[in-house]
Amino acid sequence: MTNFEYDLVVVGSGNAALSAAVSASEDNLKVLVVEKGPQHKRGGNSFFTDGAIRFAYNDLDGLSKVVDNLSEEELNSIELPKYATEDYHGDLMNVTKNESNPSLAEHLTGKSYETILWMKEQGVEFQLNENQFFEKDGKKSFWGGLPVKTVDKGIGLVKSLFKKAEENGVDFWYASPAEKLEKTDGKITGVHVNSEEHGKVLVKTKAVVLASGGFEADKKKRMEHLGKEWENAIVRGSEYNTGDGITMALEVGAVKAGQYDGCHAHTTDYNSPKTGDYSKPGDIYKKSSYPLGLIVNVEGERFVDEGADFRNYTYAKYGKETLKQTQQKAFQIYDSQVRDMLRVEYNLEEATMLTADTIEELAVKMGVDKENFLETINSYNDAVQDGDYNPSVKDGKTTVGLSPNKTNWALKFNEGPFYAYPITCGITFTFGAIKVNNKSEVLDENDEPIEGLYAAGEMVGDLFYHNYPGGSGLMSGSVFGKTAGDSVKNYLSTAAQN
Ligand SMILES: Cc1cc2nc3c(=O)[nH]c(=O)nc-3n(C[C@H](O)[C@H](O)[C@H](O)COP(=O)(O)OP(=O)(O)OC[C@H]3O[C@@H](n4cnc5c(N)ncnc54)[C@H](O)[C@@H]3O)c2cc1C
Repeated sequence: MTNFEYDLVVVGSGNAALSAAVSASEDNLKVLVVEKGPQHKRGGNSFFTDGAIRFAYNDLDGLSKVVDNLSEEELNSIELPKYATEDYHGDLMNVTKNESNPSLAEHLTGKSYETILWMKEQGVEFQLNENQFFEKDGKKSFWGGLPVKTVDKGIGLVKSLFKKAEENGVDFWYASPAEKLEKTDGKITGVHVNSEEHGKVLVKTKAVVLASGGFEADKKKRMEHLGKEWENAIVRGSEYNTGDGITMALEVGAVKAGQYDGCHAHTTDYNSPKTGDYSKPGDIYKKSSYPLGLIVNVEGERFVDEGADFRNYTYAKYGKETLKQTQQKAFQIYDSQVRDMLRVEYNLEEATMLTADTIEELAVKMGVDKENFLETINSYNDAVQDGDYNPSVKDGKTTVGLSPNKTNWALKFNEGPFYAYPITCGITFTFGAIKVNNKSEVLDENDEPIEGLYAAGEMVGDLFYHNYPGGSGLMSGSVFGKTAGDSVKNYLSTAAQN
């Protein structure tokens, strides 16, 4: 049998794994990345993202060090609320109901800016996020703390990181799931890999970074931890994230951490593919412009406050609420006042769209309970209060007396033609994973690091609960991935000195 020996084996090839591999290989370590999927399906969930990435830019000057080539004219046209580490931290603690582990939360938010600059040094390119501003008085008025995305979405992000890792001499094995960790005298010493090219082999290594995502693509585990209704959820990204890394870590003494009954989910087109389609990459099926409209179920009733907050802070929750509705189905509806303001996904040929000149006709096309639906719209319209409408701030333009009310951006639904988009719930990733500290070291039941074992990305438990501030999945992968790589370098150099 061939003897494979590395300094570091990284499990997975998404953003977290690649960040760890790039960081560790900066020091000429011998690094192997093993990826479960074939080469044309590499990159994990990270490949499918929009590349929206959250970091504490502080001000326009901070932003312009990340986004290249902004002309003087462009800079003058940007209105950007300040976003410091405390703001990011506040958002994280707010959406996680203060349950996020303080040390991990501080690490993620506090390291976000230096990490994005590091990513840039590695060749990742960034641009303004056109989905995160409204034009107002000739200015681009940004909202929601997410003004930047990677060029060419997640595809561009992973492409740059693969390129850098390859330049640094990292080896890649595709169609090669890691199956089991080898631990000798308390230290990680190898990984059993079932490789299409090399067969079933034990790869000897001094360290392992687990970055193999959550368990969202495993129907059984979804039902066990999240609830039976998750059986039919659409998997928005990688078909390979079946919780293997979590199982492997637990087998060598790691402990579970985080919200096992929680996940990130998104309202998505009712007719999206069942798992991420690599031939149509990009986050093209999501439907998140609902703060501009209304959401009704097949009974014709509203069930969430569409205007509770900017979509960045509510879409994860509302995906899950949709799954609880009859047929796991609902409709986002918009009138002509707002139709042009919807995100680009609503104009794609993949979008399922129903249009009608009257509200009655729309109800028929949607196949909802017509009487209830008309009653819902009438009472909503009667409940809308006067006020200045402004989609770039929480304008407080509300309804009164409804359950639930729409508490911002409540315009009457009365200008035809009318539009309906059938939606369901797509799962993005799961929150429950393993216990890790802010050095990305995997901890055992005594809170002691398991020597040689690190984890990053969705494998970090105890960070996201209930929801997450949009754009933090990628930043978490980058921060904890780079940290894991740095920690491996320290671990190996200390070991070499002893
Ligand atoms: C459609 C969609 C859009 C999103 N948009 C955004 C966004 O704009 N911004 C944002 O911040 N987040 C977004 N997210 C969330 C984001 O994708 C994740 O938080 C992030 O990519 C996680 O990175 P990761 O490296 O931990 O996991 P992944 O990128 O999922 O990588 C895990 C890898 O591990 C591999 N793997 C699994 N098991 C094994 C095994 N046994 N052996 C070897 N390899 C294995 C998988 O094949 C995969 O390649 C989005 C997610 C989806 C699905």
